[in-house]
Amino acid sequence: MLDKVVIANRGEIALRILRACHALGIRTVAVHSTADRNLKHVAMADESVCIGPAPSPESYLNMPAIIAAAEVTDAQAIHPGYGFLSENADFAERVEQSGFIFIGPRPDTIRLMGDKVEAIRAMKAAGVPCVPGSGGPLGDDPATNVKIAREIGYPVIVKAAGGGGGRGMRVVHSEAALVNAIATTKAEAKAAFGNDMVYMEKFLENPRHVEIQVLADGQGNAIHLGERDCSMQRRHQKVVEEAPAPGITPELREQIGQVCVEACIRIGYRGAGTFEFLFENGRFYFIEMNTRIQVEHPVTELVTGIDLVREQLMIAAGHKLSIKQSDVVLRGHAIECRINAEDPDTFFPCPGLIQHFHAPGGPGVRVDSHVYEGYRVPPNYDSMIGKLIVHGADRAQAIARMRVALSEMVIDGIKTNIPLQQRIMADGGFCQGGQNIHYLEKRLAERKEKALSIL
Ligand code: ADP
Repeated sequence: MLDKVVIANRGEIALRILRACHALGIRTVAVHSTADRNLKHVAMADESVCIGPAPSPESYLNMPAIIAAAEVTDAQAIHPGYGFLSENADFAERVEQSGFIFIGPRPDTIRLMGDKVEAIRAMKAAGVPCVPGSGGPLGDDPATNVKIAREIGYPVIVKAAGGGGGRGMRVVHSEAALVNAIATTKAEAKAAFGNDMVYMEKFLENPRHVEIQVLADGQGNAIHLGERDCSMQRRHQKVVEEAPAPGITPELREQIGQVCVEACIRIGYRGAGTFEFLFENGRFYFIEMNTRIQVEHPVTELVTGIDLVREQLMIAAGHKLSIKQSDVVLRGHAIECRINAEDPDTFFPCPGLIQHFHAPGGPGVRVDSHVYEGYRVPPNYDSMIGKLIVHGADRAQAIARMRVALSEMVIDGIKTNIPLQQRIMADGGFCQGGQNIHYLEKRLAERKEKALSIL
C-alpha cells in the first residue's frame, strides 16, 4: 500500500481524499495557500505545507511548489483531486519524472483526452458512439466547411479542440452565419486556449447529460459503475446530479457501459474516469472524457457501495482491480445537491464568515463539506462549499429525503443556493425526471420574468 500521499487540492475534495487515505492507513500531507490555513483537512492531515499565496496560479497551480512539498515530506504519491492540475498532462509528467506516483491516468492519456479532436478520433476508433461531425479539425477553405456543415445538417456547433469549462463553442443555425462563426470561434480559441484548432458537430437541441463512471487498473482490467444524470445545469455547470439516470434501462446501461469498458482497455486507461455523453432520442453521443475523480462521484458510490477514491488509491499502489463487473449491483437511487456560497437569485458569489452551521443527518444522508461554524469562505476560489447527497430505495424516496435534509441544513452568515435547491426538489418537472440540459435555465428565466411582471 502507499505510505504517504500529498493532497494537491483544497475544500471538500481534499477532505474526501484525506478520509479515504486514513481509512487505508495512508498518511497525508495537505498543501495549502496562505488563505487556506484554516481548512478542515489541513488540521486533520498528518503534515501540512504552505505552498504559496491565495491566488491559485501561485499555489494550487504551482507545480514546482507542490512537487517540492512531496520531496520535503518524503511522500510517495500525489492526488490531484478535480479542477486545478488534475487534467494537466504536463503536471502528471513532472510528478512521474520527479519519482512520484501520479494518482490518475498516464500523462499521455490525459494529453489525448485534453485534445477533443484527438479524443473523439480515438473514441470513434474504439467503437464509442460520437456526435456526427467533421471528424477532424476544420481547415481554412470556406467552401469545404460549408459542405461539411451541409452534410451534418443545421444547426451545427463549432467547438475549440482545446476548449473546456463550457467555453469556446458557437451554435450556427444557418449557412449565412457559418464562415463568420468559424473565424470568430478560432480567434476566441486562440486567445483563450492558445490553440485555434476548431471542429464541427451536429448541435443536438434537447439532449440530456448522461455520463458513465469507469474504473480501470491499467493492467488490462476495467469495469463500469453505471451512469449519472447531470442534466440540471446552469451555464454548463452542474447543479444537481443523480444515479441512476431516469429511464435508462438495464440493457441500455449494459450496452453503453460495455462500450466504455472496451474503450478503456483499448487505450490502456488507468484509474477512475468518466465518459460524458449527450443522450437524445434513446441514443448516446460521446462529448468528452474526464480523466479524474468528479464532483458528482458520491451518487455512484451510494448506489454501488463502492468507494471510488479508495479504488483510485489501490490502483495507484499497483493493485489489480478487485471488483468484477458482476460485483457491481445498483441499489436504489441517489441525488446530490451542490451547495454553493452564492446568492440563490443572482448567483453572485457570497464569501464570508459562517456564523452557524448545522449539517443534516438521518438514514441515507451524506454531507461532503469542509466548512464548519466560524469558518470564513475565502473569495479566491470556486463558490462550492459542499455537497449534500442522499440515498433512497427509489427516486421518490431520495427526493423526499433530500427535501428534509435541505430543510435541516443551516448555514448562517453567508448566502447559499439552498433555497434554489429546495425549489428544484419541489419542481414538478424535476420530480417527473428525465429533463434535458436546458430545463433549469428555462425555469429560471420564467421565474425572473414573473418577478419582473409583479414589479
Ligand atoms: P467543456 O469541456 O467545455 O465542458 P463539452 O464538450 O463537454 O465542453 O460541452 C459542454 C456542454 O456544451 C455540454 O454539456 C452541452 O451542454 C453543450 N454541447 C456540447 N456539444 C454539444 C452538441 N453537439 N450539441 C448540443 N450541445 C452541446
